[in-house]
Amino acid sequence: MKIDDIFPDFLKLTADAVGIGYAKTKLEMITLVWVNQAFCDSFEMSEEEALGKSPVAIIDSDYVDDLWEMIQEKISGGQKRFSIDTSCKKANGKTFWANISFLHLDDPKTGGRYTVFDIREINDLKNREQAAELALIEHELLYANMEALKVRLETAINTIPDPFAIYSSKEKLMIWNPAYAEGLGELKKGMSAESYLRLGLDKQSFPDAIGREDEWLQDVLVPFREKKTHTFPLVLNDQSFRVQQFTAANGDKLVLRTNITEIQAQQAKLESYAEQLEKANQDISYQALHDELTGLGNRRYLSMRFEEMASERERKGGELAALHIDLDRFKQINDTMGHAAGDFVLKAVADRLRENVRTEDVLARIGGDEFFILIRCGHNSDWPEALADRIVRLVGRPLEFEERPCRFGVSVGVAQTPLIAAEDLLTSSDVALYKAKDGGRARAASFDQKDLQQLRETKKLSDDIQRGLECGEFVPYYQALVDAKTFEPQGFEVLARWQHPTEGLLLPCSFLATASEMQLESQIDRMIFKKAINECATHFTDGFAPSLSFNVSLARIMDPELVTDAHRLHYRGQVSLELLETIFLEEETEEVMMRIDTLRDMGFDFAVDDFGSGRASIIALQNLAPDRLKIDGRLIAPITKSQSARKLVRSIIEIGQSLDVRVTAEGVETKEHAEILSGTHCDILQGYFFAHPSPFEEAKKLILEPPKKTA
Ligand code: C2E
Ligand code: CA
Ligand code: CA
Repeated sequence: MKIDDIFPDFLKLTADAVGIGYAKTKLEMITLVWVNQAFCDSFEMSEEEALGKSPVAIIDSDYVDDLWEMIQEKISGGQKRFSIDTSCKKANGKTFWANISFLHLDDPKTGGRYTVFDIREINDLKNREQAAELALIEHELLYANMEALKVRLETAINTIPDPFAIYSSKEKLMIWNPAYAEGLGELKKGMSAESYLRLGLDKQSFPDAIGREDEWLQDVLVPFREKKTHTFPLVLNDQSFRVQQFTAANGDKLVLRTNITEIQAQQAKLESYAEQLEKANQDISYQALHDELTGLGNRRYLSMRFEEMASERERKGGELAALHIDLDRFKQINDTMGHAAGDFVLKAVADRLRENVRTEDVLARIGGDEFFILIRCGHNSDWPEALADRIVRLVGRPLEFEERPCRFGVSVGVAQTPLIAAEDLLTSSDVALYKAKDGGRARAASFDQKDLQQLRETKKLSDDIQRGLECGEFVPYYQALVDAKTFEPQGFEVLARWQHPTEGLLLPCSFLATASEMQLESQIDRMIFKKAINECATHFTDGFAPSLSFNVSLARIMDPELVTDAHRLHYRGQVSLELLETIFLEEETEEVMMRIDTLRDMGFDFAVDDFGSGRASIIALQNLAPDRLKIDGRLIAPITKSQSARKLVRSIIEIGQSLDVRVTAEGVETKEHAEILSGTHCDILQGYFFAHPSPFEEAKKLILEPPKKTA
């Protein structure tokens, strides 16, 4: 049996690759029994290689199972002719897509069966199909992604805690989160920005808009339409927002509203805190610059304002005047009527002063009962003096405190530029105040040309004293102290002299007051003390060592070096310190008394100098318990002529005796004086009759050749 006999015309009908398979029985697998040239070309195999093979050999092994399944399905469905797309395999393993038409024919003679395979290559078609499929898959994937993106976007928007919305370029609401709707009711997709805002306007949710709704709407909508980005504040109900609006590339408008209520509250809190701080700071600075009692500026305030006014004067010209005001008899009010009365007077005085100054004037309280006024004035103006007179008259009027009269006066010192340089105004007004007080109090005095001259002289002298101190020009002179009965020298009073290089030998009266004023006195005291102790300690090494009596200022008493000097320059004789009666009276403080006790413990004697010249009371004398009293020479001088003067001196001597204090009489100028005193209970005499103050070389001779009483 020949295949060609069976399908004589078949091959002519097609250019497709055709193969024919045959199986003897229905159960047997078919094998290829015939192939045409196109078949060989398609599968790149020769006829011999193809024949006898199972058709499975030409199917892509990945598709064999699928193909078999499909064929079984068709055959069992009774189909004898059908076509299936499958991937085929060439002899070299390369695959291609083909549409295979199957034709099953049973051979009634043999009971075997033929299968004709008509194979048409469809690679190109399949590729396009696959591309479409891929596109579809991509499309589906994309769609799925977009959905996911959209979901993600919505989730993100919904989780934004702040109100957020997207409007289309046509201002239609597209997407929003629940917060965006809050307080405004239900929002609809596609609603306009204006209708959204009107929801709030209807409910009066925008407090800023109430009463000016249309204007407000324009304020919000115009920039919304026109600006690409825009930020503005918005109050919605009781919440404050910051609205930010951006325009996306496609024209969509994004609106984000950030709630800043908390931040604003915090900010307000911070601001109020800062304000409080500032206020506290102001209070502190106010307190630092003001006097609590009167509310006037204090010393610091004065110096601050003074700087201001002085520098302003330098820039703009004009003159300044200073009024230094001091109350007279204020201490008495305080002492006799109590501090409440004192405070009352100070407050009243402050009020009266306030009434008399202009707002631009500077008024300050600079001490217990001291006030100060600094004013601007014209050149040679008489306003400052007129003001001073007015203050004396008006501020010094008596006051009543708890129905008791408080009497006090006011003294004023005035100083004015340009006579006084601005920086010297304060000290000059002080000098003028002293002038007013010296002139009898309750008056005003001005610092004038004469004062200026004096001030210059004082300055010159003080510079000279300073120089003299540096050059060691202060030297001790010695004046004998003699026994009142025997007239034998007991010791010396040491007196300061200034060996001036051009002026010659100067007495204390020409430099001591200035030295004291300029706080140089204790340095002079020290120089005299050291030189004298040195001279005497070097000379009186054995035998009689005369006592030495030094005049000391209060500053020298308090000077810690007094002790070290005394230790270092140890002297065998008695050392006394003479203090002016006034020092004890005025400075009788705990501190001074303690210091005197200490010095006394160290071996120093104390004498009250010029006793009877001042106002020393017996009580003060008792408190101090000095070793000696020196009766002022002015009380001694008249004793030769006046009975009462003699009486007075006698009674002082008696006081001394009753207090167990030795008494010295100074200023014993004549033999007559000496004899009168010799007949009293006076212990020591001193004066020109015995010896003048002299340098050590001369003074020491007295000790070596003491004068005889008959002299
Ligand atoms: P004082 O302590 O009362 O000294 C006595 C003064 O009377 C001395 O004046 C002396 O020279 C003078 N004098 C002495 N005998 C007579 C006399 O018979 N008749 C008269 N009319 N005068 C007599 P001096 O030395 O000019 O001293 C004046 C004052 O200067 C002293 O008065 C004393 O208070 C003070 N002084 C002197 N030396 C020092 C010193 O080293 N330190 C201090 N802080 N003050 C001193
Ligand atoms: Ca003296
Ligand atoms: Ca004296």
